[in-house]
Amino acid sequence: MDHRGRLKRLQSELHHNRLDALLVTHPANIRYLCGFTGSAGALLISQSRSLFFTDGRYTQQARAEAQGPRVVITRSSPLVAAAEWLTAKGKKQGLRNLGIEGEHLSVAERGKLGKTLTSGFRLREAPPLVERARMVKDADEINCLRSAVLLGSGLFDRALEVIRPGVKEIEVAAELEYAARRAGAEAMSFSTIIASGERSALPHGRAAMAAIPPRGFVVCDFGVILAGYCSDMTRTVHVGSPTEESCRTYGAVREAQQAAVQAVRPGVRVAEVDGVARNILKKNKLVRYFTHSTGHGVGLEIHEPPRIAAGQTEVLQPGMAITIEPGAYVPGKGGVRIEDMVVVTEHGCEVLTPTTKELITI
Ligand code: ZN
Ligand code: ZN
Repeated sequence: MDHRGRLKRLQSELHHNRLDALLVTHPANIRYLCGFTGSAGALLISQSRSLFFTDGRYTQQARAEAQGPRVVITRSSPLVAAAEWLTAKGKKQGLRNLGIEGEHLSVAERGKLGKTLTSGFRLREAPPLVERARMVKDADEINCLRSAVLLGSGLFDRALEVIRPGVKEIEVAAELEYAARRAGAEAMSFSTIIASGERSALPHGRAAMAAIPPRGFVVCDFGVILAGYCSDMTRTVHVGSPTEESCRTYGAVREAQQAAVQAVRPGVRVAEVDGVARNILKKNKLVRYFTHSTGHGVGLEIHEPPRIAAGQTEVLQPGMAITIEPGAYVPGKGGVRIEDMVVVTEHGCEVLTPTTKELITI
């Protein structure tokens, strides 16, 4: 679906949600709806029209990229300009019930909006309409994700060349990120995680100045952004020969990961997928070391709905792109995580990440 189609679909949902207009300020949502890739702007959408407010820095970019809305260049902040337009013109057109993105608007911005709007407007937090639409990817988006995943997975080979005892984690991250940029990545999706030895038991151990010890796991979690879409993968390797216990831990996480991938298909609740991974770790007496959820949606943002976690009621649909990433982190010893990106298909899922899940020892 092109941007105009996305905008139209959103417009058709406004009435249903008792909104005369929606003020979209989250950059990823703006990009999704109209194609503008800059970082400042406000997209005002009513049932019959759409206006995109941005400032002078983005004049050319907005005219080139924004498809659908009328572009308005403003000297004040885009948000204030949108509020001024609503006061001057929108009110006469009956736009009174305004939805805002509560998750993405600061208290100060909310205050500014309230001050600029004259009486007669009702502001309320809108349901996450754009996020909901973004959960299901179209064919173009899946192609973008596929390209990002392939670029990302190629970087793992570079990491394997660099990981050696005595090398600093941050050096491994630097080499990996340099290779990413050389290969055309716009940016990394998040701060690269290279966590070695006991630090591998920190689920989010960002690469630090620590030297890789002679023996132990190294968790490598990284991703790139390509054409706006994020990749995300984790592989855990072992430096030196692994103990029997390490092999068992790795094997259990791998089994949990594969079973959860196999559980991904349309109609399944996300909590069920999480449960499949958790059960296998439970059987292996590792479940208390699995301290995060099994996965998350990924697309224009590295973490987006749905969350693949206990208690979540979202049902998988074809086109959803999610990660499956169980782990086990034993304090004082080390941790293992294995993460793939998968896309839900008509009958099951396609694993995008091509990298082996055999335990690699260095
Ligand atoms: Zn990750
Ligand atoms: Zn992830």
